Parts: sequence; C-alpha cells; structure tokens
Amino acid sequence: MDDNMSIKNKPSVQNGPKRICVTGGKGGTGKTLIAVNLATMFKNEGKKVLLVDGDVENPNTYLLLNGKLENKEHVPFFKPVINEEKCSKCGLCAKNCATHALLHVEGQYPIPFLNLCSGCKLCYKICPENAIEEDYKELGWTYETNVNGMDLLVGELKPSEARSVGIVEALMNKIDQRLQEYPERYDVIVMDTAPGAHCDVELLLEKADKIIPVTEPTRFGELDLIRIIDLIDLLKKDFRVIVNRSSLLGFREEFLDKLDEQDIQILGDIPLDDEIVKSYCQGIPLMEKNGKFDTESEGYKAFKEIYKNLQNWLNDSQVEESI
Ligand code: SF4
Ligand code: SF4
Repeated sequence: MDDNMSIKNKPSVQNGPKRICVTGGKGGTGKTLIAVNLATMFKNEGKKVLLVDGDVENPNTYLLLNGKLENKEHVPFFKPVINEEKCSKCGLCAKNCATHALLHVEGQYPIPFLNLCSGCKLCYKICPENAIEEDYKELGWTYETNVNGMDLLVGELKPSEARSVGIVEALMNKIDQRLQEYPERYDVIVMDTAPGAHCDVELLLEKADKIIPVTEPTRFGELDLIRIIDLIDLLKKDFRVIVNRSSLLGFREEFLDKLDEQDIQILGDIPLDDEIVKSYCQGIPLMEKNGKFDTESEGYKAFKEIYKNLQNWLNDSQVEESI
C-alpha cells in the first residue's frame, strides 16, 4: 500500500453544531446511504439535525428519505459583459484575471471565455471605465425541506454546467445564515459530499469537524481512499473510515488488516445485507425508528455499532478540546 496511507489523524476544533462530513474518493460506495442513516440515528436520539446534500451533480438524499425537493431557489453565477462603448482597451481586467478567462490583445476589446471564469467579479470591480457590466446565468438550484423530523438542504447543479463549487458555496451560505439567525438551531450537521477530491468536496471537508471517508474492499476502493485521505491530511482534519459492503468476496479481514497496518482508524464496517437493500428500495432509512426493519440483521447491527463508535469519537474529542 502507498506511503500516503500511513497518514495519522489530526484533531480540529470548531464551535457550534458538530459538522460531520461523509465523503468518498469513489462513486457508488454508499456514502449517501450512510449519511442518511447517521443523520437518522442522531434524530432518533432527539438531536436537532441538518442533513446537507452536497453531491450536487447527483443529489439523491431526498430519495432515500422518501422526501420531495421543495422551496427551490436559483443559484446565479456572475458573467462579465464588456460594454465596448465604455471600454478603453487598457487590458487591466485581463492582466488581473487569475483564471485567464479574459483574452486581451493590444488595441482590442477583451474577450471573455466564460468556461474559465470563476465568477469572482474582480474585473467588474477594477475596471477604471466601468465598462464591465454585471450579468448572471443560472448555475443551479438549492432546495430546503424538512423530512422525517430533520431539515434537509440540497444543492443541484444545472445539467451542462461545470461549476459545482458555486452550488456548494450557496449551500454553505445558507447554513451560515441559519446559524447566524439562530445559533442553537442544530446540534449536528451531517454533510454528504460528491465523490472524488475536487474543490467542491474540499469546501465541505474544510467546514467539517469530523470526516468519514466511505470505501469498499476492492483495489479501486483502496486507491480512491488514498486519494481522499491525501486531501483530508492536507486540510489537517480528523477522520475515521467506514468500509461498506465489507463482506464482498470475502476480503473483509484482509482489507481491514491493510488499513490497520497503515494506522488508519476505522469507524466500522457494514456487510452486504438484504435488509439494507430493502430499505434503499423503499426509500426509508434502515435506522428509522418506525421503519420496521429487522433489528437483528447484520446491517442494522453494523449501523448501531458505527453510531456507538461515532459517539465515543465525538465525546473523546470534546474531552480533548476542553483540556
Ligand atoms: S479594464 Fe475595463 S476598460 Fe480596461 S480593457 Fe478591461 S473592460 Fe476595457
Ligand atoms: S469574474 Fe473573475 S474570473 Fe471571471 S473574468 Fe472576471 S476576473 Fe476573470
């Protein structure tokens, strides 16, 4: 295994509700299912929970909760428009555009390349002739709802758009707004990220107190786990891994041993279980109090164990922070 797997977990401190980020280097590992069930277990204990769906290209937390996308709001994205009647062709905007989204040739008007534009508005602010005009395009949407006794905040990127980070920023602003209005509003915020290690994922990880990368016992799972641990380590965040579908092809022990050898802490593992599939198909979280699932099933017991470990992890960190 790569040297990067020997990274040690590092602590972090943040006031307000505990922010737990469920992530994964690879798609399809079951992180959304895990985020939904963790949020449900917190809610079952009487905690005030906000579940945030930051997998904006594929937001489906609401499907696993049998919920609806409600209270749709547009997320606008700035795009510069050059007013040629005012522009002096000085080139200042292009010189200062960090993403090289403005092409300026001596004696010509600057040409915007919108696919490179970050929407930072710097060109608009610094143009000495006020020749850059504000225009906005629709980047995607946010939705706010309450389902199964917890608040749900969902981001969705418009098809054909690429700037998912803009939607995640809109979600972060909404969380900040809610907490500014009422700091005690939530005890726990569970955030589900997109797969991979892109800047939209990084934005959510940066805000987290605890990070739970979800993987599976395959070579792909292992390599993608290394990638996401690299990013978590750069951000100096505290993390513990969940191995999903751990009974897959009988590699459980071997995979857990590998992680252990590399000093990677495990929050728990979840075996393949029909009861999980049943809950998935019904759109009712396995851990929902009134879900009527088999509490003796391997999946149910695994989630219980993970929740217990998560509580201990949070409590231990609280003790460390208070010392
Ligand atoms: S900074 Fe303003 S005036 Fe100068 S080239 Fe850009 S748009 Fe034109
Ligand atoms: S908004 Fe920012 S990134 Fe876009 S063209 Fe202007 S300076 Fe460049």
